[in-house]
Amino acid sequence: MTPSATRTLHDVYETAVARNAGEPEFHQALREVLDSIAPVLAHHPEYVDAGILTRLVEPERQIIFRVPWTDDAGKVQVNRGFRVQFNSALGPFKGGLRFHPSVNLGIIKFLGFEQIFKNALTAQGIGGAKGGSDFDPHNRSDAEIMRFSQSFMSELYHHLGEHTDVPAGDIGVGAREIGFLFGQYRRLTNRHESGMFTGKGVQWGGAEVRTEATGYGAVYFTEEMLAVKGEGIDGRTAVVSGSGNVAIYAIEKVQQLGGTAITASDSSGYIVDEAGIDVDLLKQIKEVERHRVSEYAERRSSARFISGGSVWDVPGDIALPSATQNELNETHAYRLIKNGVVAVAEGANMPSTPEAVHAFQQAGVLFAPGKAANAGGVATSALEMSQNAARQRWDFESSEDKLRTIMRGIHSASYQAADKYGKPGDYVVGANSAGFVRVADAMLAQGLI
Ligand code: NDP
Repeated sequence: MTPSATRTLHDVYETAVARNAGEPEFHQALREVLDSIAPVLAHHPEYVDAGILTRLVEPERQIIFRVPWTDDAGKVQVNRGFRVQFNSALGPFKGGLRFHPSVNLGIIKFLGFEQIFKNALTAQGIGGAKGGSDFDPHNRSDAEIMRFSQSFMSELYHHLGEHTDVPAGDIGVGAREIGFLFGQYRRLTNRHESGMFTGKGVQWGGAEVRTEATGYGAVYFTEEMLAVKGEGIDGRTAVVSGSGNVAIYAIEKVQQLGGTAITASDSSGYIVDEAGIDVDLLKQIKEVERHRVSEYAERRSSARFISGGSVWDVPGDIALPSATQNELNETHAYRLIKNGVVAVAEGANMPSTPEAVHAFQQAGVLFAPGKAANAGGVATSALEMSQNAARQRWDFESSEDKLRTIMRGIHSASYQAADKYGKPGDYVVGANSAGFVRVADAMLAQGLI
């Protein structure tokens, strides 16, 4: 590492932290990327000369807005809405919307920053953004969700468009919310602009495999990592956190590939089913009935529910953290290592703390960061945009083939970049470097903007 590259990275980090005070998740995401790319800067001094890093850590645009709505009791409620349009050098802004009470500007910035590199890794021509609100959809009626979503879109629509910014779902934003958001956009603009939102229902412009893509993609990435070692998923046990969109389809794909996924969780606790999670039952409870995960154990004799505690206490060969940021800390990592974990792939965004990542890497556990492992969702969103633009619809099988090919491409880009920059087998360095070079080259070509 050259002294000038180290100095630049240090200065960029310190300035960004001072400018974005009180945003620890954003600082953590910055640090992870900046700590990885010193060897890239040593190869490319032109990036430093052009101020690429200084520009990259500052979002192109940040929008914060009031979201007023009335609840079922007729009481006025006010939430805060966010959209951070981080970088559009590679294509229109692209990234999901999160509805969760923990949402604040720093969380949206961390997610938007990660999204830049993830989207670059997909090679699909999409920029990075993220948005959402501190609205809590739990225990809200469909009518409340609709009124909130309509109010949220009544401001956000000014900033969206198929060539400008294309949102999708994330925590708390699934098919129901996307329907309400898209409907309001259509009403306000008088345009059925399919390409302005992804994750739409398949009957009205959505793509096959989008629902499954993030979870399936994380398992495909795991399969690729294991294949490098001459191993596979067949016969392996997987521990999975979360029971939402990502977790459900990660579990499904593990089972399809001959593994056994034995856990799922939510914020109230986790379930263990040594017989293997019954995916249809989990979907029925979480997607159709919108109940807590504990309900699964009530209905299945082979399963038990553990209130509180940590799903990472459960031994498994593969760990797929698929709930939320910083859900897997150093203590959890050591427990998983002690219990024989061989591969960890992040279905969620930044679920492992930096100390946990370090512990896995030191122990020789294969570790895939979220920006590589969970990129299948946004990659399939880009396929949805292609289908919308061409007024085509691809079937499930060919869409899944494309997803698999993209995940292989992300794996090999990350693997090769890790080699090239002197950290063989380090997928964190590999993914960050490969994604960064693509964005930096585009920024360099487009001048000082
Ligand atoms: P969902 O809302 O469908 O599910 C989230 C799951 O995580 C729920 O089981 C939820 O439990 C649990 N969870 C959320 N917050 C917490 C918390 N603070 N503590 C414990 N459990 C929690 O979201 P997704 O499955 O879509 O997203 C999961 C993760 O994957 C997020 O990090 C997201 O950013 C990431 N991701 C999602 C993509 C997608 O395509 N959906 C794409 C790429 C990444 P509860 O209901 O109790 O809150």
